Amino acid sequence: MGIVTLDEVTHYINGQQVKGENDKFGYVYNPSTGQRIATVPYASIKEVDETVQLAKKAAKRWGATSVGTRIQILFKFRELLVEHTEQLAKLIGKENGKTISDAKGEIGRGIESVDLAIGAPHLIKGEHSVNVGGDINAYSMKQPLGLVTCISPFNFPVMIPLAMSVMAVAVGNAMILKPSEKVPYSALFLSKLWEEAGLPDGVWNVVNGNKDTVNAIVTHKDVKAVSFVGSTKVAEVIYETATRHHKRVAAFGGGKNHMVIMPDADIDKVVDSFVGAAYGSAGQRCMAISVAMPVGKKTTELFTKKLRTKVEALKAGSYDDKDADFGALISNDAKQEILRAIDEAVNEGANIVVDGRNPKVENKEGFYLDATLLDHVTPDMNIYKEEVFGPVRVIVPVETLEKAIELINDHQLGNGATIFTNNGRSARIFTQEIEVGMTGVNVPIPIPVGYHNFGGWKDSRFGEGQMFGPDTARFFTKMKTVSERWFDWEDTTNETNFDFPS
Ligand code: NAD
Repeated sequence: MGIVTLDEVTHYINGQQVKGENDKFGYVYNPSTGQRIATVPYASIKEVDETVQLAKKAAKRWGATSVGTRIQILFKFRELLVEHTEQLAKLIGKENGKTISDAKGEIGRGIESVDLAIGAPHLIKGEHSVNVGGDINAYSMKQPLGLVTCISPFNFPVMIPLAMSVMAVAVGNAMILKPSEKVPYSALFLSKLWEEAGLPDGVWNVVNGNKDTVNAIVTHKDVKAVSFVGSTKVAEVIYETATRHHKRVAAFGGGKNHMVIMPDADIDKVVDSFVGAAYGSAGQRCMAISVAMPVGKKTTELFTKKLRTKVEALKAGSYDDKDADFGALISNDAKQEILRAIDEAVNEGANIVVDGRNPKVENKEGFYLDATLLDHVTPDMNIYKEEVFGPVRVIVPVETLEKAIELINDHQLGNGATIFTNNGRSARIFTQEIEVGMTGVNVPIPIPVGYHNFGGWKDSRFGEGQMFGPDTARFFTKMKTVSERWFDWEDTTNETNFDFPS
């Protein structure tokens, strides 16, 4: 397969690119230049229903296809992802704004989901018990749900759709992906790779749209499970709507991830780790570190001094600028929202240590902000309470480890938190007591590898559904248990029993 050519943004339905018929549409921008690069059609309720009907038929055929055949297609898909990494990374950079090297990182993590899903035969094999009584054998099997949907955010145009969907396909479901309307090209690109890999028509579909499109999908009676990743506000709505319509739901929301810095930690290592984890991808990662929590006055002073120098040296730039540490924000609206959050914090008494509000980048039309650092931030300020999805980070000092744990546990968001220390006991107390889904010790972004489960606590996830990790195979299948007996035809005794079988 050579270069993939994608001119206009279309839906991808039943193995074909389909232009939308609806009169509703949105615009796609290149965040690095601020220029409009495409229009994206929003699917209507009718278009959603037509897609569902086709995908439902495909789900039936695909679910009955041997698991070995399904996995062969995944192997091919994986090969194509590797082959097209360079082209795909540029595409991600162009529509999302992140640097090409960062985009390659996300593709690599996306490929990890394919690796995990290649092991699906192992994850969905059933259980068997021989002669549980009266010559009956009992066994259980995991069957696909049928047609399922994934609704994805803008910040990982490839990694998250792959994390959410590949296992679903591997275990025998058909998929409707509704990608973020801000980054529709990447999803279309993945569709072309699935097509080339030999996935039968209708198993993988991409329907573009806005909240009305999402609503039409998640309330459709033939859609059996909803996997959602996005902001907490929307995750909550999706969870409530979809469960009301009796769907299985995994709804992942935002994060406010803390790094606790103990007095015994190596401050230079801490600062290096913080800078990458906090400002990488312009801070637009759900697991980005957004709060530094140094313990004690001395640690705070040393950390702030060293961090300031590093943050001042950071460079925002175009996705294809090899010297840029991070790229532009996704939209001008996002930029304005972040500027508003900084102003509000300053009015509430926060102090600007490094001010990135007037970015140094030459192209003033792109949606840039330079790295910004605030201190004198207190837990009652909105900038501490809410996720700020951009390169703005805050320092909130505490007196003790116990106080750090108390504040993190009181926070409504519970995706990740990490501690930097050289003391095993502090690390143990922290990992045991902290109320977040993913925690680290001297690891700035503790995102688990694919063979461990991913997921936050509190308002960072609604429901117990999975979207990445081995439990995703369980989320996208339903268990059936069979009790089976074969009679001896020469045995002619017949007897009726009215007692409950035991
Ligand atoms: P978003 O919530 O605005 O959009 C996510 C998806 O929902 C998009 O496809 C969008 O079209 C759709 N959508 C938006 N509003 C909707 C509505 N009212 N009803 C139904 N659907 C709607 O999120 P975003 O801005 O694209 O992504 C950034 C957010 O995602 C951040 O909060 C980030 O922390 C979060 N995120 C979380 C994880 C995680 O694993 N927990 C991973 C990545 C991103």
